[in-house]
Formats: sequence, C-alpha cells, structure tokens
Amino acid sequence: MIYNLHTHTERCNHAYGEDREFVENAIKAGIKVLGFSDHCPQFFNYKDYYSYFRMLPEMARDYAHSIRNLAKEYKDDIQILLGFEAEYYPAIYDEMIACSKKIGVDYLLLGQHLIGNEYDEHKFYKGEREGENFLTQHTNQVIEGLEKGTFTYLAHPDLVNYRGNHEHYIREMTRLCKKAKELGIPLEVNMLGMNNRRCYPNEKFWEIAGQVGNQAVIGFDAHTPDFFYKKDSYNRCVDLLLKNNLSPMSFEEIKIRKPY
Ligand SMILES: [Zn+2]
Ligand SMILES: [Zn+2]
Repeated sequence: MIYNLHTHTERCNHAYGEDREFVENAIKAGIKVLGFSDHCPQFFNYKDYYSYFRMLPEMARDYAHSIRNLAKEYKDDIQILLGFEAEYYPAIYDEMIACSKKIGVDYLLLGQHLIGNEYDEHKFYKGEREGENFLTQHTNQVIEGLEKGTFTYLAHPDLVNYRGNHEHYIREMTRLCKKAKELGIPLEVNMLGMNNRRCYPNEKFWEIAGQVGNQAVIGFDAHTPDFFYKKDSYNRCVDLLLKNNLSPMSFEEIKIRKPY
C-alpha cells in the first residue's frame, strides 16, 4: 500500500496547486494514505525577520480547515492526515508546538534546513560547503530535536551538502543513525531529492543507515500535484533501500506521534 506523509501546499510560497488537486492526483496515483506536512509557521523572536519558504502564522487555521474538509469529503477514497514539516529551533520550539496544538495536527516531521534558530545562524543547507564544525552542529541539533519525542520521522536526514573530511562524515552520520534507531524514529528517503538529482539521498548515508539497521520510509516531498506520478523516482528510492538491506516500512508499522 502506497502512502506519503510528506506533502506541501502553496502556502509555503514554493509549492504549486490547490489542496484539492493534491488529493485528487494522489487518489489517481493509488495512494491510500496522504499526509499533508507543509512547512510550519515559525515564531521568530527577531525584529522584521521571517523566512520566505514557509507559511505565515495567520495561514495555519485555513490550512487545517482546508485539509480536514478534504479528509471528510474524500474519506471513502483516501485517508488524509494533517501535519507539519517543522524545524527544531530551540528558542522558538515551544511556540511551534503550541501552534501545532492549536490547529490540532496529527503529526510532525522534522526537516532541519538550517541551524541555530535560523535568524541567528543563517546557514542554509543548499550549496553549503561548510566545514566539520557545521556538520557536527547540524547533527547535534537534529539529535536534540529527535529527543523531544514529538517528531514522527526525520525527513531528508542526509540533506547537508558536506564535502569535507570523509571519516568525519561517517562518524557524524553513524551517530545520527544510531540515535534515530535507539529512539525508534524512521529516516526518510526523500523522493524530491531523488527526482531532482539533488545532493540527497546520499548514497554513503544510506550505506551507513543500512549498517546500523534503521527503519526507513519514502517521503515524496510533493510540491506539485503531478509529483505523485513519478513512479520511476519512487522505484529508485526503493532500490536504494534494498541495495542497503533496508525496505520501506508499511504505513501500519509507522508510529504516528502526537506532538502535544
Ligand atoms: Zn519545501
Ligand atoms: Zn518537505
């Protein structure tokens, strides 16, 4: 049974299509469980700062309303869940959880794109070629986030475009994989990255996850409604797992963690 817990909406400014189109295309593509996990609003304690790639706080209610209504309307064809893809930013974590509670999300994915609290250490993953320190900081922050016990899975765990010392990469990613395993948190093979030939999924990372024996899921990371038809990219994600003696979990095996 195909499921996908990683779906965006146009509220985040870099996804396209109406919510309904995502649902209807997912049904046509044979998806049985569809989780919306748009980029969560963040509540920055910093004057005039707001990042452009996530929904604004005032959009959260409309998001919840729209997804819950679609869930009712299409309940005979597909199960729809409401979630967020969120960052773990220590200084504003509580506000993020409060917002999730207010609109009643079913689950959160951890998708760590930046470190610090974003406004203080504005280091975006994309094209970054930061040194060992950055990788360690990123790993520490992700682990601290996972330890909160509020995230259902870790999206694109291999997102950092690290080009430094190879041993250091192995050491840090082994530490991350072991911690995720210990906490019972699955890791995501990101299908958007696979489809768009980004620096993730990282072959080396999945080799490590295979050795550690992590639980794995495939997340579409759909930013357009037609993305559900990318069968070829999906199969390549499956192949990557199989090659490393892993296989995608079934939906029933995933523990959906309520974040509040
Ligand atoms: Zn996105
Ligand atoms: Zn995403």
